Amino acid sequence: MNRPLAPSAEALVQQRIRSDVQAMHAYGVQDPQGMVKLDAMENPFRLSAELQAALGARLGAVALNRYPGVRVNDLRQALAQYAQMPSGYNIVLGNGSDELISLISLACAVPRDARTGQKPVVLAPVPGFVMYAMSAQLQGMEFVGVPLTPDFALDVPAMLSAIARTQPAVVYLAYPNNPTANLWNEADMAQVVAAAGACGSLVVLDEAYQPFASRSYWDIVRAQPEAHSHVLLMRTLSKFGLAGIRLGYLMGPAALVAELDKVRPPYNISVLNCECALFALEHADAFAQQAQAICDERARLLQALRTMPRLTVWDSQANMILVRVASPAGVDAAQRVFEALRRHGVLIKNVSKMHPLLADCLRLTVGTADENTQLLAALEASL
Ligand SMILES: *Cc1c(COP(=O)(O)O)cnc(C)c1O
Repeated sequence: MNRPLAPSAEALVQQRIRSDVQAMHAYGVQDPQGMVKLDAMENPFRLSAELQAALGARLGAVALNRYPGVRVNDLRQALAQYAQMPSGYNIVLGNGSDELISLISLACAVPRDARTGQKPVVLAPVPGFVMYAMSAQLQGMEFVGVPLTPDFALDVPAMLSAIARTQPAVVYLAYPNNPTANLWNEADMAQVVAAAGACGSLVVLDEAYQPFASRSYWDIVRAQPEAHSHVLLMRTLSKFGLAGIRLGYLMGPAALVAELDKVRPPYNISVLNCECALFALEHADAFAQQAQAICDERARLLQALRTMPRLTVWDSQANMILVRVASPAGVDAAQRVFEALRRHGVLIKNVSKMHPLLADCLRLTVGTADENTQLLAALEASL
């Protein structure tokens, strides 16, 4: 008797895996081996030797044999205090904001939106953070991207008409935005936030770059919570200085946060992440000094970049700078400069193919003084 053979793994991919997933590309992480790594908005500073030793002792004492328990509530409380969460609000933690974005999609992905009879829509300005679209589409939601103006401001009439037309379930507003590094005009923001509220959309304010920004929209939300019952604030410790530990948090009216909490995997924050984040908040002053050093370096970089020929340089409220390389017809100058920098040992991000508004653009993360000096020298040599 022949036992039935199982289909090949390739055949199973065809038969069992969603065709949209088959068509996707896995998220690419560049190999930085020995390079100056200025591609991912990481904080370039590590902890002092003294803090490293203290953290090591703390982590060594953690009960790794146990599932994460109530210690996570200490962290929720510490973050709520750090971010001045108002009363009546609650906080949910994610394994990075990436996971929170997935949870929002998961919780909101009804088959048909009752207002439109269509697939629910997630709406955001573009170019923006790619995870909003990716996570929406994976949960069967429709992503609608509304182009920014050519100088990367919110296109308010276009946003308002897209909101009215698509009645989005969720509107994402990154403040500052990635990769354009700017804050939206506050009055523009207010119009978009109000229009979303009026049609029953949730608004997720993504303030990943808050440590480097001159304003936070959270101040406006906290001043008028009744007008912002549809607004959720998402932040992360990634750009703060802990990209490696994966910790994002989201605050909003308790009733909304409670629903998101139901779809969260129960042990999504490891005991090590939790203890490390608590340690970092106890030493928030050390991280604030790092953020200040990054802002100072950002000012130096901006000034130096603005003296370089062939570069258009935009202002930044984040730990990254967007530049455009003047490109003669038929020449992919952004790719050429990207590759030349790589040959000089400097890794940045070529965003020129992400969106037509970003044609010929490169995104530079602000590093240490030394790293920025190397970046500037490599750019001089490459332009
Ligand atoms: C980097 C970034 C995040 C952070 O994601 P994590 O998963 O917390 O590392 C969130 N939003 C935007 C716009 C970002 O650029």
